[in-house]
Amino acid sequence: MKKTSVKKNTSKLSGIAILLFIASLTVCSLIISATIINRVNVEKLQMEQLILEKTLRINNVISRLLYKTNSLATLIVQGNGTTDDFYKVAPSVVDDPAIFNVLAAPNGIVTNVYPLDGNEAVIGLDFFSDGIGNKEAVAARDKGSLVLGGPFLLIEGIQALVGRLPVYIDTQTEKHQFWGLVSITLKFPQALNDVELGTFTTQGFAYELWRINPDTNERQIISNNYDYARPNTGFVEMHVPVLNADWYLKVWPIRMWHNYPENIVLIIAGLLISLLILFVMQNNTELRKARAILEQLAKTDPLTEIYNRRHFMDMAQINIERDRRLNRDCYIIIFDIDEFKIVNDTYGHVAGDKVLIEITVRLKAIMRPYDLFARYGGEEFILYISEVDRNDIIEMIERFRLNICSKKFEYDGVSFNASASFGIARVSDYNLDNGILWADKALYTAKNTGRNRTILYDEKG
Ligand code: GH3
Ligand code: MG
Ligand code: MG
Repeated sequence: MKKTSVKKNTSKLSGIAILLFIASLTVCSLIISATIINRVNVEKLQMEQLILEKTLRINNVISRLLYKTNSLATLIVQGNGTTDDFYKVAPSVVDDPAIFNVLAAPNGIVTNVYPLDGNEAVIGLDFFSDGIGNKEAVAARDKGSLVLGGPFLLIEGIQALVGRLPVYIDTQTEKHQFWGLVSITLKFPQALNDVELGTFTTQGFAYELWRINPDTNERQIISNNYDYARPNTGFVEMHVPVLNADWYLKVWPIRMWHNYPENIVLIIAGLLISLLILFVMQNNTELRKARAILEQLAKTDPLTEIYNRRHFMDMAQINIERDRRLNRDCYIIIFDIDEFKIVNDTYGHVAGDKVLIEITVRLKAIMRPYDLFARYGGEEFILYISEVDRNDIIEMIERFRLNICSKKFEYDGVSFNASASFGIARVSDYNLDNGILWADKALYTAKNTGRNRTILYDEKG
């Protein structure tokens, strides 16, 4: 027979839990993004540093090799333009495994090459013709200084870097007259061995060393570590000036953000923390809901869903204190259904229950929201009413009584009358127990004087 309004509500996620879950996810994503951005910045600095270091090294390594041509130039200047001692000096110049050969070219036409073996084809070559790599020879002559060329494919079939140094001699007629060129040929990529470009790979970066080839005007890759290459987002590219040449280094991290285990750990941790917050908050909300339901159950009568006696006593005590302070009249009313046993016996217990429910519905509809109304026990009800004039209370309770007895109750196809007797007591001493006692006495009088009536407790006794 118990009627319950407790609904199962466990599957629905609470708004606050979802909100905190989203907030936690947001905070975690911010931390992860900050970590990633921080690493990107650190990597950028590392790349810039590496490029600067390699730029210095490339310059050192290439200059050291190319300036070996200086001793050949000195030889020619001292010999006043003759290359007679070329083969005496050249072996001491070719002292590095990266050097392929050295050449002397008066007026740009090669007359001497060391080592001669295997390089015979180069004799007679005109550096000022249109051949590959000759732009650098012309540039050396025009600029009057050492010029780097390459890498390009030599007629000997190897890749090489070349250095062309213009030589000037004093003649009887002219000072610093252009004599021709001395040249050094470096095997490529061996010439860059000492630069240790492999550092990029070991430090986790892909790189591309490139230049615009003056012969083709196209971008030419000088060196790279493409085995390790990944999409080159977030690259750093810097100009690498090598003597006259404009080389460029483009560097980017091999690993993407998701290749860092710590990022994955952070993401998983963030998700777990957020889920934990969701779980705890959801549980907390469920608990609070359950507690609220329990509290509601503890103060209501399960059949009529109005206050039960215990809660009435608590609330009435609070109200009575307030009314004492404000010096306001207040009343306890107890009413009891007349001959209820007969209702039960005639129409059944279920019909009796319906009458109890119907009476509470009828009275609640005409009562003020702040009037206290409770089931006192069995078919007895209790009210605490204040803020009513002494003259109006009887009228008010009479309205309640008439509401019960003037409308038939219907159940299971039958209709019948019911009534209740009311006892009213003004709680003149603001003592709840006295009020209840006096109201009960008045009710007793109502019962004894014919039922279905309202009796106000006679304070004079
Ligand atoms: P009166 O008060 O006018 O003297 O007569 P009465 O027949 O109402 O008197 P009594 O107090 O002796 O009987 C009260 C009856 O109310 C007895 C009990 O079975 C019934 N009752 C109490 N609580 C409930 C309830 O929750 N449901 C139903 N159906 N009956 C109840
Ligand atoms: Mg009774
Ligand atoms: Mg009764």
